[in-house]
Amino acid sequence: MDTFPWGDHRRFNSYNHFSQIRFGGRVQRIPIDAGFTCPNRDGSRGTGGCTYCLNNAFNPPYCNRLSSITQQIDDGIAFYQKRRGASNNYLAYFQAYSNTYAPLDRLQTLYEEALSHLKINGLVIATRPDCIDMPLLDYLSDLQTRTYITLELGIESWHDDTLRRINRGHDAATAIQALKDIDQHNIPVGIHLIFGLPGESPDTWLNDTQIINNLPVQHIKIHQLQIIKGTPMEQDFFTHRKDFHFFTPDSYINFVADYLERLSPDIVIDRLAGEVPPRFLAFSNWDRLRYDELVKRIEIRLKERDTWQGKMAVSE
Ligand code: SF4
Repeated sequence: MDTFPWGDHRRFNSYNHFSQIRFGGRVQRIPIDAGFTCPNRDGSRGTGGCTYCLNNAFNPPYCNRLSSITQQIDDGIAFYQKRRGASNNYLAYFQAYSNTYAPLDRLQTLYEEALSHLKINGLVIATRPDCIDMPLLDYLSDLQTRTYITLELGIESWHDDTLRRINRGHDAATAIQALKDIDQHNIPVGIHLIFGLPGESPDTWLNDTQIINNLPVQHIKIHQLQIIKGTPMEQDFFTHRKDFHFFTPDSYINFVADYLERLSPDIVIDRLAGEVPPRFLAFSNWDRLRYDELVKRIEIRLKERDTWQGKMAVSE
């Protein structure tokens, strides 16, 4: 097959291909810390946060919640230009904590400041499924007629037992309802999932593709569980090791090939693995394998198996 159902020669529906079609070239997301907190930390849904969470492990070094949005965008563009070269397309990525968890007028001020930056072409807004309400969706629905936006929902698991154990503070039904509400407002949405949470297995995640294939999901980010130092997950992991399916790079590459094969070909793959700096990790058997190398190896594995995203997708 020269090209796959999404019109590209790569064996999965990549974000680069999506960017090429939507923006005419590579897109660089610029993470921002806009000073939000999270209802799973401030007591309104829970305290202590999700057991795996340490936001500092995910923030690039220039992110400073005390700096303005404009300043962080300028710093972020300079940071990524040095690392990855210039791009003509930048999206402001409201990434740290829950980026819809504030009064609507405050959200509007922050989002519009980002959009007023001359180099910004749109927004990606990461949040929790229980931080979505109708006034917000009405506003975003209007905004998406004027500019590019995507909501990114942390789903993490589709199973309530798991969500309780990781102190997630919401259930799977809330996540599914949020996806449907967002879809009704014509807002593109991506989901984030973790593979390796306690009590789950590769069979769980492969079967879960049927749930995803039946939902209005346009983008997906998947990553392997990473055990961050000092988190409650670290203690859970070392105390109940047998409850965790922990991937080696090779087993993850095989698993991702199986997973992509079952996932709808219409879903754009924003990310295939996590990459927390090694100094934050309490445990790792990945030997500093870099993300680009991992993706290359997944693509080689797909080719060796003559398979591709959606080849075995089931949606009913
Ligand atoms: S919802 Fe996000 S920010 Fe809040 S505790 Fe969980 S992972 Fe951390």
